[in-house]
Formats: sequence, structure tokens, C-alpha cells
Amino acid sequence: MQSFLGKSVYKGIALGKVAVLRKNDVRVKRAGIEDVDAEVERVGKAVAESVGQLRKLYEKALKEVGESSAAIFEVHRMLLEDEDFLDAIHNMIRTENVNAEYAVAVTRDNFASMFANMDDDYMRARAADVLDVSDRMVKNLSGRAEIGFDFENPVIVVADDLNPSETIQMDREKILAFVTVHGSTNSHTAILARMMNIPALVGVPMDLDKVKTGTWAIVDGYQGQVIFEPSEGVCRETEARIQKERERLRLLHTLKGKENVTLDGHKINIYANIGTIGDVGYALENDAGGIGLFRSEFLYLGRTDFPTEEEQFQAYRQVLQNMAGKKVIIRTLDIGADKQVEYFNPGKEDNPALGYRAIRICLKEPDIFKTQLRALFRAAAYGNLSVMYPMITSVEEVQKIQEIVSEVKKELEESGVPHNVFEQGIMIETPAAVMISDELAELVDFFSIGTNDLTQYTLAIDRQNERLDDFYNPHHPAILRMIQMVVDNAHAHGKWVGICGELGADLEMTERFVRMGVDELSVAPAMVLRVRKVVREIRTKRQVMF
Ligand code: PEP
Ligand code: MG
Repeated sequence: MQSFLGKSVYKGIALGKVAVLRKNDVRVKRAGIEDVDAEVERVGKAVAESVGQLRKLYEKALKEVGESSAAIFEVHRMLLEDEDFLDAIHNMIRTENVNAEYAVAVTRDNFASMFANMDDDYMRARAADVLDVSDRMVKNLSGRAEIGFDFENPVIVVADDLNPSETIQMDREKILAFVTVHGSTNSHTAILARMMNIPALVGVPMDLDKVKTGTWAIVDGYQGQVIFEPSEGVCRETEARIQKERERLRLLHTLKGKENVTLDGHKINIYANIGTIGDVGYALENDAGGIGLFRSEFLYLGRTDFPTEEEQFQAYRQVLQNMAGKKVIIRTLDIGADKQVEYFNPGKEDNPALGYRAIRICLKEPDIFKTQLRALFRAAAYGNLSVMYPMITSVEEVQKIQEIVSEVKKELEESGVPHNVFEQGIMIETPAAVMISDELAELVDFFSIGTNDLTQYTLAIDRQNERLDDFYNPHHPAILRMIQMVVDNAHAHGKWVGICGELGADLEMTERFVRMGVDELSVAPAMVLRVRKVVREIRTKRQVMF
């Protein structure tokens, strides 16, 4: 039995078998070789192995996400069979007597930059495919298995670190808990764990080489502890605690169908944050009044090319139809910072959190934005849609957005495509937006306060930096005063305000938010009923004692 303490990002208890995810280091070393023919033969074998893997991936994707998304694996297979690509690798091995891994890596870089510099958008996007398929070759050449996210039975995932595009690929039914060596409690991976309603620990000082897949472990999100190979007695105690937790949950669920109303009649909306279509079920199961934040950028993660207008339309429509008339607020894509996607060609940035992200990408590359807006307009005909824009800092940005939105609407009208209008709001997550919230309130229908980024930008603390977790304080008086200022400015213009950052689910703050006049709290699905419980125990007006 061995235990470690880490930082808990979601309270809950899990007991189960461990699956260790080891990331593959695809950096390659140059080595001289003597037998060039044998090296060329190794390339042939790696190609055959890669083609086999891609065929399987194609079949899987075809069943799960349809032909248009699966087609990408066919593109990868064709790249692997491209004569120019293979000739370049063979020539390098033969002329420079270098190892196959190195020849593939150099060819990869040359071809990727050749594609990246092409004029045609489609060809430019192929750069990411070259990188992806070449890395597959390198892994196969060096015998490093691919990192797998498909588990047969539910497991406790143990890893060095996880990024959002890896986390999003996991099937939540097969994950009991996450435990990672690195990671900040404010990262999107932590947020995903909360949305998935599974216990998760980050910053656990364990030696991954000593943790074995298949061993038993307990993850205790209340104590921030993981215990590997627990004794029988500890397992029995844990099972009893899991039972008690289930009972607490059952009691919480008796609040379903009840109003979010304080003892003295003050009502507030409690909505759910989601990242995928699959989360809608959890939002409904927990009786959320609507979706307060659909992080649409998750549709763009874990893939090698942009989701098409049609794919996006289908996803948004499904969410709206499943929510059956309840409000659904979809945030336009907030790619960048820790949510990096190769096919956006992000380039290297010294300060990604202050960089090319979210609405900045949409305004600089309006075609990407317009595709999403067209899908949103079309989907709006199927439910109660609101759209909001992330990372706003100025009035000019909102005006520019409105121009683009009007253009898209006009184009749809002219071409007779069925669509509908939607309510439009903005995220208030930069200090600049807070300070001009009186002016912004004139332009939009609502505000949603993103306390995660607002804390990061106000306190000048990188939310991704695990060493700064102790300094990251969303209860800081500066943040609370900002929230009050935003609420007052919105209400002065007859607009409503929600909080969709993680602070919205902080039960210690619920009473304060109600008193501040916040109209809506949007929280992880599993927190909806917990917040409702607290709201129903609040009395906002002082009782007069005779
Ligand atoms: C926020 O910043 O509070 C927010 C809700 O957006 P995200 O966490 O996705 O940046
Ligand atoms: Mg944000």
C-alpha cells in the first residue's frame, strides 16, 4: 500500500484498477547506420503497420462519427502511400546513411512546411496531417505503442499530465478517476473532470515508472489522496464511503423538479456547463434549467481538420433539440491558450494566454467564424438558442462581431437557407470588459462572467501554472467588486447577468451572488442540485424580530 497527496479538483471517491497513460516522446535522434537496405525495409514495415492502424481507425470513426469525419484517416493513409514522401525518406537513408526514424522526422518537417506555405486553404491544412501521420510512423519504427484512450472496463487514469484534447477523447463511462503528476486546478482538464463528475487529483508526486497498469487504487477527492494497492480493510472502508456518497446523491436528487428559490422568494436560474453533446444527458439528469455555457471549441479538439458547417449544425441542433425548448447558450470557439489545435497553425507564442485566441482568431480569420455562425443560425430554428462571444475587451470588437453576424444572416436570407435569430451576449472575462461594461451593456442582450479568466487576468496569474495555484484566488476583493460592477451596469441597462466560471459553483459564494443580484449561475451538471439546495436555504432579507 502506498499513498500520495495531491490537489483535488473534484470531490468524490473511486475504487478501481489503474490504467497508466504514458505519452510518447516523438523527438528523434540522428544515428548512423551500416545496412541501408535493412533500414529501408524497416520503413516499409512501419508503413504497413501504420496503414493497418489507420484502417482500423477509419472503421471505428465511420461507425461512431460518420463518413465525413472518418475520411481524415483515409487522407492519412494516402499520404503514407505517396511516392514523393516515401522517396524522400528512402533517399535520405541511402545518401546520408541515417536511421529511418531520423529520415522520417526530417521529411515530415520538410513536407509540413511545404504544405503550410501553400496558398490553398485545403492544402495548408494538410500540414497537420503530415505531422500526425509521420509521428505515427516514428512511433511504429521505435516500437512505442500509441497512447490509447479506449478502455474496456472503467479505470482510474494515471498520467504525467493530460491536455484537454486528450481528455475529451475519453469515454466518461470508462473513467473512474484521473490522477496526474502535473496540472493546475484551474486548467481546462480540471474543468473537464468536474464536468465529467469524476474524482480527480493533480500535482500528485508519484513516480509513474513505479505505477503499474492493472493494480488497484483508491482516489479520494475529499482528502486529495490516492492509495495504490490498498489493503483489504481500506477497500472495505472505501466501499462503505462510496455507498454513503450514493445515498447523499439520492437525497440530492429529491430536489429535482423543485424551484431555485430562496426562503424569501428570490429566484435565480441554475444552468449547466457542457463541452460535448454527450454532456446534455448529465445536464438533464441533474435538472438544469438550461445550458449556460456550451464550450463549442471542444468540437474542434482531438481532430486534424476543422469541423464542417454541417458537422457543427448537426451538433448544435442535437443539443437544442435534446434540451427541448430550454435555453442553450453556445459560446463561439475559444481556441488558443491551453486548447491548442495544430490545424489552426497557432505558431509559437511566448504568452499564449495573452495571445492569439478566441474572438481574436474569429475576427482575424472571419471565414472560420462565419462557418460557425452559419451553423448556429441554422440550428437556431430547432430550439431556444443564445450565442455568446469570448474574450471581449472593447466596444469595437463587439461592433465588428455584429457586422459579421449581420453579413452571415443576410447571406442565409438571400440563399433561402432556413435559419432563425438568436439572443447575443458576451463573456465578461477581462478587466477591460468589466471597466466598460456600462457601454457594452448597451450593445448586447446579456453578460456571462467568466471568473476563471477574469481571475487570471486581474491577478496576473497564469491559470495553467501549477506553482501558482495557491495565489489564484477568485475570492479576491478585486474580483468580487468587479462582479458587482458588472451586475449593476447590466441591470441599469435592463440586461441580465450570469456567472459561468468555476466560481459560480462555489457553494460558499452562492448566498453572496444571490444578494449581488446575479441572475444565473452556470455550473458543472453535477453541481446543479447542490447549488439549488443552498439557494433554497438562503434568506436574503433580514428578519424583523419583535
Ligand atoms: C472562464 O474563463 O471563466 C470561462 C468560463 O471560460 P473558460 O474556462 O473556458 O476559459
Ligand atoms: Mg474563459
